[in-house]
Amino acid sequence: MSDQVTHFIGGVPVAEGGTFAAYDPVTGRRVRRVREADRDLVDRAVAAARAALPGWAALPVAERAAWMRRLGDAIEERFEDLVSAEIADTGKSVAQTRTLDIPRGAANFRSFAEIAAQRPESAFHLTDVLSYTVRRPLGVVAVVVPWNLPFLLATWKIGPALAAGNTVVVKPSELTPGSMAVLAEIAASIGLPPGVLNVVNGFGTGSTGQFLVEHPGVDAVTFTGESRTGSAIMKSVADRVKPVSFELGGKNAGLVFADADLDAAVEGSVRSVFTNGGQVCLCTERLYVERPVFAEFVARLAGRARELAFGRPEDEDTAMMPMISAEHRDKVLSYYALAKDEGAEIHAGGGVPHFGDDRDGGYYVEPTVLTGLPPGSRVNREEIFGPVCHVAPFDSEAEAVALANDSEYGLAATVWTSSLGRAHRVAQSLQAGLVWVNTWYLRDLRTPFGGVKLSGIGREGGTHSLDFYSEPTTITIKLEPGHD
Ligand code: NAD
Repeated sequence: MSDQVTHFIGGVPVAEGGTFAAYDPVTGRRVRRVREADRDLVDRAVAAARAALPGWAALPVAERAAWMRRLGDAIEERFEDLVSAEIADTGKSVAQTRTLDIPRGAANFRSFAEIAAQRPESAFHLTDVLSYTVRRPLGVVAVVVPWNLPFLLATWKIGPALAAGNTVVVKPSELTPGSMAVLAEIAASIGLPPGVLNVVNGFGTGSTGQFLVEHPGVDAVTFTGESRTGSAIMKSVADRVKPVSFELGGKNAGLVFADADLDAAVEGSVRSVFTNGGQVCLCTERLYVERPVFAEFVARLAGRARELAFGRPEDEDTAMMPMISAEHRDKVLSYYALAKDEGAEIHAGGGVPHFGDDRDGGYYVEPTVLTGLPPGSRVNREEIFGPVCHVAPFDSEAEAVALANDSEYGLAATVWTSSLGRAHRVAQSLQAGLVWVNTWYLRDLRTPFGGVKLSGIGREGGTHSLDFYSEPTTITIKLEPGHD
């Protein structure tokens, strides 16, 4: 892997701008340098995207879909390079990276190729009036993404944006630029028209991210990240009224009813709390468990948390990964300390693991299970984004729903029950964009994805993505009577 990450503008790598250091989350060591795009480089990337736009937008959708499929195939060919790049940036386990992060990237291009190519046009024909709609791309789209699922989340936006005829400038997280650098190489290797996909690296506020979203040549912003960053971006684009699609933070609830299959609820909660080190926007941080099974559930969840293996990323049975950075580890640990101060009972974890090797320099924290805090405590209200959950008992279905909905966020929720009626009733009462019943993180890429309240604006997925990345123009024609 190269020891320097560059930008990708107009189809070529660009090694310009200052540099900043990238660290290995497993050991805390500095591993390489990343170029930072200033206003001039952002300007050049936007100009390259704008120059490529007319040609790309004019391609028949079937041809754009063919490019998307070629990208998907080329991702498969560079699969192991992408796995290595993602692990180097994040310290994820190889098992997860091979089965989730990188395959979903290829699927993001392939599925949007099919969805875009097969989308029917709409037309309404009255006796003397024909109304029909054409959809046109938005133009140059800024794609700004976070560090937790770098390849998966970026391609989730790039795929449909390109399929709908836009050109893109992508700003990966400053912490995880590696897999987008490989995607840029892939795009160049298959001859994707220069300027269709551009990548600029750098920080957010006062740097590349802000320069990009503010740029007058950018027509729309699609963003995944923290709610307060979404709010800052909204202010940046307000003067130009640019369309935004926001996938933001969460403080997701899981409800476990006494009639649930408890084995499945415990194992499902282990996944929903600890996957990716708890660093998935969909992870559960608040669990509510019906009182008759509360004590058993807490004991079993805590037992499983203590068992989760802290191997190295390359070990196949590794379950726990490090936090992404020293700063984020310190943030998660500050919530562990806060929980103790607020009087929580700690059933598992609560600290930092000790390895006796170079991982002691890395950013690991223990998977943690807490009880005993009131609903209003900060630990129960603020997104921690680490391998931690608080578990509280409830006595009725109405109380469970009220507790789950008592949040400023509304991204995802999980319901564990064997009652079909309760499953539908509760799922329909939860204020969340996504509700899973007796499972978690099962996704059909055609379904709408997104959150309510502080968790976002708009939906992506299937035709919902294409709706955001294109704009309809309705054309209505008064038909003349015939002259036979
Ligand atoms: P973040 O908001 O700090 O950063 C995300 C991206 O925005 C980065 O590329 C960053 O450089 C850039 N950025 C920051 N400030 C900016 C500004 N003022 N203008 C333009 N760009 C700016 O988020 P993060 O810490 O990288 O990621 C974690 C967050 O992402 C969590 O809150 C998590 O819930 C959320 N997330 C949400 C989803 C979802 O689908 N809803 C998915 C994954 C992560």
